[in-house]
Amino acid sequence: MGKSSKDKRDAYYRLAKEQGWRARSAFKLLQLDEEFNLFENVTRVVDLCAAPGSWSQVLSRVLIKGEKFGRCAWQDREAKFRQHMLNVVPSDEAPEQEKPAAEDVSPKEEPKPRKDVKIVSIDLQPISPLPGIITLRADITHPATVPLLLKALDPDYDPETMNQQASQPVDLVISDGAPDVTGLHDLDIYVQSQLLFAALNLALCVLKPGGKFVAKIFRGRNVDLLYAQLKIFFEKVYVAKPRSSRASSVEAFIVCINFQPPEGFKASLEEPLGVGSRLPTMMADRNAVAPITAPVLMQNHETGTWDVTPERTQTADEHGIYEVEVDDLSTEPRDKDIRWIAPFVACGDLSAFDSDASYKLPDDHVSLDPVQPPTAPPYKRAIELRRAHGGAYGKPPGK
Ligand code: SAM
Repeated sequence: MGKSSKDKRDAYYRLAKEQGWRARSAFKLLQLDEEFNLFENVTRVVDLCAAPGSWSQVLSRVLIKGEKFGRCAWQDREAKFRQHMLNVVPSDEAPEQEKPAAEDVSPKEEPKPRKDVKIVSIDLQPISPLPGIITLRADITHPATVPLLLKALDPDYDPETMNQQASQPVDLVISDGAPDVTGLHDLDIYVQSQLLFAALNLALCVLKPGGKFVAKIFRGRNVDLLYAQLKIFFEKVYVAKPRSSRASSVEAFIVCINFQPPEGFKASLEEPLGVGSRLPTMMADRNAVAPITAPVLMQNHETGTWDVTPERTQTADEHGIYEVEVDDLSTEPRDKDIRWIAPFVACGDLSAFDSDASYKLPDDHVSLDPVQPPTAPPYKRAIELRRAHGGAYGKPPGK
């Protein structure tokens, strides 16, 4: 797909280049922040799987430069962009949409840089420098990354004498990690879940009580079990879909608020969560300490009907969500199998671009180059080989 065609089909790709973001992912974080006010009272942040660095750019602009995005500045920018595109109207393939409103007259706020900001960004790929941000090239699934991160957060950290808990803990851990997608759906979901557990294990080592954790997930089977597991550590767990994330993609983000580790819990990479029985045991313990007070929804496999067991009385949480148990042949609920349905939040203003629509561009549209081409893409070698052998239709190597 050519740059111009991509500009047409992907409004956020085009918008990212216009606004100077290294990747369209920046809008996902901005839209999550719009909904959850992620950066409120935040000064210390870890950005996992951060290359090429658009989330780190957002952190830099909000925390270091003190720019205000949220519901004013970012929509203001977008309204201006739309106006600049004159009559950006959907292309013939896209459903008819209302013409965007003219200028959004949100109040402009003076930037207010925050004090004592610390941002550490990590990726397997090199991240081009960003002023004020510490970047590390490391694998988040590797145990050696923890001391690297702790040292970056606190130069006095000494792995010989200190444990794996940050002495200067952080307010927010964000992770946009994605493996190279193979197209084998179950395998992709599995690898993504391993990245998520690696991110969670790192977050548990560095978060301060009350902190927040945001991470990309692929919604697959058993994702409700993951939500229940996260509820062990966080008071609130949401699953959010920003408008800039394509509706057709299984991608979503978990937003975990108010880190409250269970009493006596110590993060340990010798015993990471996601492998072994530590997490299931904690789930069982939690359910034993605070038994579920909801009636349990159970499927009768003979009749296929769903029944509510009357033994347990019900209290829904503030969103009217109940604990749900499925797939049980017996009439006795099995606490260890308890799953939990997290509230689903679609975020991003409705007036924002639809990431699944194509938009017609003005005739004089000039396609810009990406702000930050990949520094060391995994496909670099393949491109070099192809060029060396005369392009896509050239001689295969060795012939
Ligand atoms: N949030 C980034 C931004 O705004 O520019 C985009 C992140 S991109 C979607 C996913 C990143 O995950 C890739 O840069 C990839 O290198 C990184 N990644 C995948 N597996 C990783 C791992 N095991 N450790 C560190 N980074 C990893």
